[in-house]
Amino acid sequence: MERGDLPNLLLADEKGIILEHPYLKMVGFNGRESVPIPREGLVKLPPFSKLFYLPGVRPVGLDQERGTLEVVEELYVKGRGKIRPYAVAAFLSPGYVRTHLPAGHPEADRPLLPLWAYTAAGAYEDGIYGAAFLVEKNPKWDPRNYDDRDILPRVKELKRRYPQNRLLKHLSHCALSNHCFAAKNLFLGRWEAPVPTSRVCNAKCLGCLSDQEDERIRSHDRIRFRPSVGEIVSLFGPHLTYAPEPIVSFGQGCEGEPLTEYLLIGEAIEALRSTTDRGVINLNTNGSWPERIKSLCEAGLDSLRVSLSSAREPFFNAYHRPLNYTLKDVVEGLKVAKTSGVFSMINYLIFPGVTDERDEFEALSLLIEETGVDFIHLKNLCIDPWVYLGALPSERSPLMGLKRFHEALKERFPHVNFGYFNQVPKGMAL
Ligand code: SF4
Repeated sequence: MERGDLPNLLLADEKGIILEHPYLKMVGFNGRESVPIPREGLVKLPPFSKLFYLPGVRPVGLDQERGTLEVVEELYVKGRGKIRPYAVAAFLSPGYVRTHLPAGHPEADRPLLPLWAYTAAGAYEDGIYGAAFLVEKNPKWDPRNYDDRDILPRVKELKRRYPQNRLLKHLSHCALSNHCFAAKNLFLGRWEAPVPTSRVCNAKCLGCLSDQEDERIRSHDRIRFRPSVGEIVSLFGPHLTYAPEPIVSFGQGCEGEPLTEYLLIGEAIEALRSTTDRGVINLNTNGSWPERIKSLCEAGLDSLRVSLSSAREPFFNAYHRPLNYTLKDVVEGLKVAKTSGVFSMINYLIFPGVTDERDEFEALSLLIEETGVDFIHLKNLCIDPWVYLGALPSERSPLMGLKRFHEALKERFPHVNFGYFNQVPKGMAL
């Protein structure tokens, strides 16, 4: 098979069996159009990446000879006859930033896709490649470090020690059934561990992991009770005291907005800090209440990570659908954290064709200047691409490409660090 410089198009049959197209080449969707991606714009799929087929989305590939894009409605497969193929996408393991969406033609009656970061993928002779670049390599999140055979005895031991602790029961389910790595860390006594507390939220994000009308789309079960300060401190006091490089994080995928429980969290922070001054106490939040952030900073918070889909108000509103706050409050919250001496981060939910718009670059640059954030997570937004694009304002600006966007930010803000995972701030005593 003649492959040339571009990878071959991948497609799937009705059962999800993945095939290579005999001559069409892979293209990626940059949010505006489907374009060929040369080898230097692709990475070989790292271990533990996944491949998906997209029901109701027909694949689109490039006929190099004719120079045309083709929607593959059907394909003749030797020994099987005609199939009606589906588009294929990759989900790259954490640390990689997606640059292109899968090119596809969505049919009107297709099912919605669950919440993953669908990435353009194609095949070279030596394997499958995806449209992405690496922003942070962090062995702490390598799946090989999370063997349930090590975790099970620790779950048993902690349950024996704290038989009444509801938070422990909740987190053991997160660790063993939902395979949350942060929850596994609690039982393995190391690194970042999660403290879910909140049952409600003041936003309706399109890609919320724990609140979706369609249950098949929802990936996390929201916590259903309010833990007590005692339940929190008995689990996380020892974690901060003894774990290597400990981070205790309020605000997780399996809860609502932690600022709705700021009084409980403030009390818990003070109680934790009365047991040890070791480690990092972090808050992952939508950043909606500056005065509540201030009170948590005063209670002893060390770092704050605010999730943000866009620095432009109409785009921010279209995704987060805030109920009682605005982007201005979020900016204020970041400023409050910074002036309180708290390490401040943006969990920037990036998406090809939206994040890399010129106007977004300028708006984010202003936001960085105004807030003085220390760190920006380049986090792929996990959502059905066509749902997200369909919800956004129609007025758009020229694209830079996500790689160039990242480089330009680094050039303009050399003191800001970029990555993918929560960090232990430099110089913090552990
Ligand atoms: S802020 Fe978080 S919990 Fe609230 S809707 Fe958005 S993603 Fe869900």
